[in-house]
Amino acid sequence: MEYTAAGASMCNPDMEFDRNVPRICGVCGDKATGFHFNAMTCEGCKGFFRRSMKRKAHFTCPFNGDCRITKDNRRHCQSCRLKRCIDIGMMKEFILTDEEVQRKRDMIMKRKEEEALKESMKPKMSEEQQKVINMLLEAHRKTFDTTYSDFNQFRPPVREKENPFRRITRSSSVNTQNYSSDSEAFNSSPEPSEYSFPSSLFGTYSSENSPFSNGSSELSMLPHVADLVSYSIQKVVGFAKMIPGFQDLIAEDQIALLKSSVIEVIMLRSNQSFNLEDMSWTCGSEEFKYKVDDVTQAGHNMELLEPLVKFQIGLKKLCLHEEEHVLLMAICILSPDRPGVQDKELVEAIQDRLSLVLQTYIMCKHPSPGSRLLYPKMIQKLADLRSLNEEHSKQYRNLSFLPENSMKLTPLVQETFGNEIS
Ligand SMILES: [Zn+2]
Ligand SMILES: [Zn+2]
Repeated sequence: MEYTAAGASMCNPDMEFDRNVPRICGVCGDKATGFHFNAMTCEGCKGFFRRSMKRKAHFTCPFNGDCRITKDNRRHCQSCRLKRCIDIGMMKEFILTDEEVQRKRDMIMKRKEEEALKESMKPKMSEEQQKVINMLLEAHRKTFDTTYSDFNQFRPPVREKENPFRRITRSSSVNTQNYSSDSEAFNSSPEPSEYSFPSSLFGTYSSENSPFSNGSSELSMLPHVADLVSYSIQKVVGFAKMIPGFQDLIAEDQIALLKSSVIEVIMLRSNQSFNLEDMSWTCGSEEFKYKVDDVTQAGHNMELLEPLVKFQIGLKKLCLHEEEHVLLMAICILSPDRPGVQDKELVEAIQDRLSLVLQTYIMCKHPSPGSRLLYPKMIQKLADLRSLNEEHSKQYRNLSFLPENSMKLTPLVQETFGNEIS
């Protein structure tokens, strides 16, 4: 591919086969250093051509005028060497005049100076900012176990073989009522005519062939997922406590922030286990590999899961550094606009500081093109999380509305997301 100049191998049949091995001098066969005066040559032949042209030298071959030039004999016949230079496409027009050389040198110098200036103008991470990042990294590593070994202590996942939601299709009806599609599976009897509620009140989603056919009405994954969420809440709380500044807030504000952000942070942190290949959350073993299907068996429907998976894909594709990932979680928690926050100013000040660290980090440490618009893209993810949070709340309310479901939750989950029964 690099052989665009007159073929270096033209007169050397042995090299015909090595066309793909670039960097051979087209004149003498020595190791080439690049294109010089329009042909791939070694430094020696480059210098020879330049000198010859500048001197306007005329050489005469002492032999027959057809010397084969090699690395070892190239000094023996200047005439044939120069002829070879021209044969492979070297052009004197490509030789710079002394002024041009000087101009080029000046330009390189200027560019270097400009780069140095740019480098010196570049924002630098302050020691303080680096410290914030280190603390967040440590907080995250202490609260996110990448072996997922604790999952063994949860109530085990139970996956129904005949999942009624397996073929999920979007129906045209939109569920505007509080009766969730989650409850349809257990409220309903096998015969559609026996529904106790009009079918329009039931879910937006139903399986193609036999809607609501699951008479046994078990949300088989709910106990496991409830334990998983409960565990994650504890971890997020642990993480939040280690965010620099968080502990300066009054207890009420700490609780208000955590209550409203925890599900978003769980969604964020779960991105670490999200697998783009099969769109699952892969937490170690096959048993703890969660697909959309599994979460529907814990009572959530596609109104939440479809945008959630899209969110996970989008976030994964940002290829965040761990530093950015932990900053995003911290920024998410420290949002002054959460309901019930009293000292908004303090929360905002902490969030501003974290945002600045993130922006500085991206500018200093994230190479382009990945860094391009990365900060606004990350902020957009926070907006996406708000609507996911809202949808989750809605589905959680519907889910926990039924005592047979709420009894499978944990006290911490109920305390965090609300207890409809009480
Ligand atoms: Zn050469
Ligand atoms: Zn010769």
